[in-house]
Amino acid sequence: MKTWKIFLEEIEKQQTKVICFGTGLMAEEALQYRQIRQALVCVIDNDKRKQGRETELGGQFYPVAAPDDLPGYLDGNTVILLASGHYKEMRHQIGEMSFSVQPKVYAFPELQTAYSADSEEFFEERFLKECLKEYEIVLEQYHINGKEKAQKIQEKELFIRGKNKYSRPFVVPRIMIMPTTRCNMRCRGCSSLLPLFANPSDVEIGQVLKDFELFFSGIDECIRITVGGEPFLYPDLKEILEYLLRQEKVLGIMLITNSTLLPKPEIIELLKNPKILLEISDYGYLEKMGRLIQLLEENSICFKVLTDQAWTDMGGVECRGRTEEEIRFQYLNCDQGKVIKGFHNGKFHTCARSARMLALGAYQSEHDYFELRQEDSPEQIREKLRKIFYSESADACNYCDLGALPATVIEAGIQMQGGKKKSRYTIVDRQEYEELKRLAKTRR
Ligand code: SF4
Repeated sequence: MKTWKIFLEEIEKQQTKVICFGTGLMAEEALQYRQIRQALVCVIDNDKRKQGRETELGGQFYPVAAPDDLPGYLDGNTVILLASGHYKEMRHQIGEMSFSVQPKVYAFPELQTAYSADSEEFFEERFLKECLKEYEIVLEQYHINGKEKAQKIQEKELFIRGKNKYSRPFVVPRIMIMPTTRCNMRCRGCSSLLPLFANPSDVEIGQVLKDFELFFSGIDECIRITVGGEPFLYPDLKEILEYLLRQEKVLGIMLITNSTLLPKPEIIELLKNPKILLEISDYGYLEKMGRLIQLLEENSICFKVLTDQAWTDMGGVECRGRTEEEIRFQYLNCDQGKVIKGFHNGKFHTCARSARMLALGAYQSEHDYFELRQEDSPEQIREKLRKIFYSESADACNYCDLGALPATVIEAGIQMQGGKKKSRYTIVDRQEYEELKRLAKTRR
């Protein structure tokens, strides 16, 4: 099947014109490519409210036409690009229409997942591009901007590419470690499935440090690491952070907290290191979040608040009975498969969902994870890691909906018991934060 890269090369070479069907995020993504912008004839959408108006995509405004207008734009040199999670319905819709010249129809998500694991496109999309995205965040943490930033990114690209395909270093964009299944919240749709654990527990710090050593022995560099679960509940977080701050093969550390807990003083000291970025999920607990933000600001800690989050519903852990082709598509279409691989309790997994489902006893796989064993040499570990990273599918995708299209979006942070409601002030701007901090201060 044609890949996205080939599609772009062909439309440029053959001067093909493109009609983009869809005006949402996927269309926005497609229009980031110069070749698509240059070839674009018009934008089509089923939404009547958008038809006849202009829509902004990739920084430019385009008039939106109705699907019924398609024949007027088509000729033998024009193709239709379906850029929406509803691409299957759209393809069917076009199939029902009559044209004097039958148009060629391509779906953006299909083109984007058509590469094979041994291709350069796979490496470029799943490694190089993701590594450079992660690296940019690290550079921001160190306040490196302008020419210096551009220079460093260029150097990193050269390093990741290596001299050639066969001698390139093994650099991975990001992994996630999951030292605990404990959390003080019970969110509906929790991507880590934490509310399903009847007896949440911590992984022994000795095990975590052993897993680190084995993982790092098998790679050349990991741009960033996320510490998952609710990290401030893990009793040995200090040891984890001290290890990662010393470990030269990882360039950035990210902690994600639900904003309801304050880190201990010894953790605060470590968080001051620019190698660490704290992401704060804003689920509407304004007083607690205000106190946390105040503490972070007082200590010049690098943090980011995620305000208007929406989650994609990953569904329950039951088997969906998908075909191999559907599983392959879903895996390659899922961002977590690219950047949330990681280890939990002695095993390295294809994604965090796989780790959680195995810990829950909800599924098993001979393909999705392997044991990090002390008796394995660094070469053997590297080989096993490469197999996981260069896979085209995962059994876990048969028990999850994350990469499936169309996606179902759910509100973030809504509690299982429904007791906690999101504040109407959840999306806050800088000024509101100042007021928030003032209130938090006066109530202490
Ligand atoms: S199971 Fe598949 S779809 Fe779900 S998070 Fe993992 S890689 Fe993504």
